[in-house]
Amino acid sequence: MATASLKGKTAVITGSTSGIGHGIAMAFAAEGVNVVINGLGSAADNAAAVEQVAKFGTKVTFDPANMLKPDEIANMVAKTEKDFGAVDILVNCAGIQHVSPIENFPIEKWDMIIAINLTSAFHSIRAAVPGMKKRNFGRIINIASAHSLRASPNKAAYVAAKHGLDGLTKTVALECAQMQITANCISPGFVWTPLVEKQIPDIAKTQNITEEAAKNFLLGKQPSKRFGTVEQIGALAVFLASDAAVAITGSNYSIDGGWTAE
Ligand code: NAD
Repeated sequence: MATASLKGKTAVITGSTSGIGHGIAMAFAAEGVNVVINGLGSAADNAAAVEQVAKFGTKVTFDPANMLKPDEIANMVAKTEKDFGAVDILVNCAGIQHVSPIENFPIEKWDMIIAINLTSAFHSIRAAVPGMKKRNFGRIINIASAHSLRASPNKAAYVAAKHGLDGLTKTVALECAQMQITANCISPGFVWTPLVEKQIPDIAKTQNITEEAAKNFLLGKQPSKRFGTVEQIGALAVFLASDAAVAITGSNYSIDGGWTAE
């Protein structure tokens, strides 16, 4: 069902060449939203991601900003405002994971996870909010995680970054509360994407179990015993961006098969 209030708007979605970000890009484009795709894939993968989203007929471009580089993030926002007239919707989705006990956690992995999963959202929001305030419209959607609300062993950097993203979101929500600008988190449980698939061998290794057992270990956290889908996350993002959701701000929406209900 097309959401009339979204037609013709523009969304910047970080980390949208793959997985959840790509699913959100598809969901927005299906609602008539122009989309800036971003990510670090190969040229062929990036082009394929753009082509799939463009099939809905809206304007879709690719921006190669590396979420480790504040200048590139700010330039992506400025370029979108110049080329499309606005960043109406900002979705911070780029993220990476590393699984290791704290005493062996590589320092460079900690720094990278905090930079990509948390600090990049600070930079993109910082760059996008002035334009949103000028136009008195904005939707900021940060893709956090059940790990913004719960911890798991061996994920120190990821859990710290996602808890931080929840705090950042609430702060921005308060700063923008009197305008038509909202900031919310979506917190998925396990969704079957390359990010989850890549954890399986590490979990199997650290727990000395088979890869099949590692998959079941992940689903053990999720009372539904099912992985979520990128389409489910996309549908929630579309709702949070719509006019109907203007009173929802500073919230953290779990979409996790019951994980955080326990
Ligand atoms: P994914 O690996 O499929 O996609 C990650 C995206 O981030 C890709 O487009 C990748 O190119 C991009 N990216 C990585 N490093 C980047 C960088 N330095 N600069 C720009 N882009 C970069 O992963 P996913 O599972 O779709 O995860 C997307 C987000 O959802 C992440 O923030 C993740 O923490 C969150 N999340 C995922 C799950 C899950 O179960 N898959 C659950 C909760 C939260």
